[in-house]
Amino acid sequence: MKTDSGKTLITNGVLIDGTGVDPILDGCLLIEDGRIAFAGSVLEKPEAPEDIETIDAGGGTIMPGLVEAHFHATYFNIRTLEDLDIKYPVEYVSLLASVNCKLALECGYTAARSGGCLFNVDVWLRKAIDADLIPGPRLSPSGREICSAGGLMDWNPEFRKIGMEGLVFIVNGQEDARRAVRALVKDGVEWVKTYPTGDAAAPDVNDHHTLCMTFEEMDAVVKTAHNHGMKVTGHCRATEGIKNALRAGYDTLEHGTFMDDEAMDMLLERDVPVIPALYFEKASVIHGPEFGLPQAVIDGHQETLDGGAESALRILREGGRLGMGGDYGFGWNPHGDYAKELTYFTEEVGFTPLETIKCATKTGAEIAGMAGEIGTLEKGKLADVLVVDGDVIADISILEDRGNIQAVLQGGVLKAGRLAPRQETSVTVDG
Ligand SMILES: [Zn+2]
Repeated sequence: MKTDSGKTLITNGVLIDGTGVDPILDGCLLIEDGRIAFAGSVLEKPEAPEDIETIDAGGGTIMPGLVEAHFHATYFNIRTLEDLDIKYPVEYVSLLASVNCKLALECGYTAARSGGCLFNVDVWLRKAIDADLIPGPRLSPSGREICSAGGLMDWNPEFRKIGMEGLVFIVNGQEDARRAVRALVKDGVEWVKTYPTGDAAAPDVNDHHTLCMTFEEMDAVVKTAHNHGMKVTGHCRATEGIKNALRAGYDTLEHGTFMDDEAMDMLLERDVPVIPALYFEKASVIHGPEFGLPQAVIDGHQETLDGGAESALRILREGGRLGMGGDYGFGWNPHGDYAKELTYFTEEVGFTPLETIKCATKTGAEIAGMAGEIGTLEKGKLADVLVVDGDVIADISILEDRGNIQAVLQGGVLKAGRLAPRQETSVTVDG
C-alpha cells in the first residue's frame, strides 16, 4: 500500500492516541511521508511550512483508524448460515467481499483481522488492497475454517452429498487436522480459524455449551500452524473449550464467552487477547423474530450476550486484552454496522470510551500482528488516522454514522470520508 509523500497537518481537534491515556484537547497531528512526525498539543507542534496541506478537524476528534478484529469479508449479509457455502459461487462472493472491504474503510476501519473467510478470498483481497487496486482495511487473512465432523459448521445432512469446501475443512482426528492446516499453509493465510465449541445458533446438537473439536485435534492444529509461523484462533464459547484452546496454545480466543476462575487464570497467565464479538448476539436478540430465528436460538443468544459481557468486563478489569469485532455479515447484523460494537461495550458492558477505543485500535493492531506499524498515534507509526465530527469521548455512537467521518487516512493518504476526492459508495450489499 502506497504511503503519502510530503507533509500534512491535522489540527483543531481533540486527539485520542489509542494508548488509553487522556485525550489532548488542543491536539494536532503532523504527518511526514505517510508517517506520524508529531502527535500532541498544538502548543508543542514543531515548525511546519506555511503552505503545508492542512485538515481542520473543526473541533472534532482526531484518532487512530479502527481495527475490526473479527471480520468476515465474504459473509454477504446472509439470512441463514446455510447460505454461506451454497448460495453464490466464489466469483460473486469475491465481488461482494471487495464491496464489503470498501465499506469497512469508509466506516473508519483501516485494518481488519479475518475471523474466517469463504474460499481463500481474503488472502487475495489483501493482495489487491495492498496493491491499491481496491480500497479496504489492511487485512490479516484466515481463509477457510476448520471444524470437526458433526460440529457447528458441518450442518449438511449426509444424504445431500454436499461438501463444505468453500467454508470449512471438516476434520476427523489429528491427521485430518494436520492435513487441513497444511493446505492453509499453501493458501497463504496468517490465521487458522477453528471451531472448538458450538453456538446458540445450533441449539439441538451443537449449542454454546457443546464441544465441537477434541483437544487432540486442536493440539495438532496449533503444533502444525506454529511450526509454519501461522497463528491459531477459535470460536470458543463453552468453558471447557476455552480451557482446551488455552492449553493447546491458541494465539487469540474468539468470544471467550463462559469463563470460570480457572479459565480466567489461564487466560491472564498467557495474556491471550479475546475478541468477544458481542454485537452479533445483541442484534440476534433484537432482530431474531423478524428474521425467523426460533425462540430457543434467541434465548441462547441472550444467555451468550449476558455471559460474554460479564466475561469481557472481568477480562478488562483484571488486566487482560480485548479486541473489538462484531461478526458482521448477517442479515440482522450487516456490514457497515461495525461501530455498534463500540457503543455496546461503552454504554452497556461498562467500558469507558477510552478503554473501548484502546481495544478497537491498539489491541486490534496487536491482534492483527500490525502493532509495530499502526494502532496508535505515536511518532514513527504509519498515519492510519480518522478525523471525526464531534466529541467521540462524550458520545462514542458518533462513530456509527459514516456521515460523521471527515477523513480516513491510510499511510497519510486520504482514502475516504467527506474530504476524500472520490464519492462514497451508496451500495448496500444484500445477500
Ligand atoms: Zn465469526
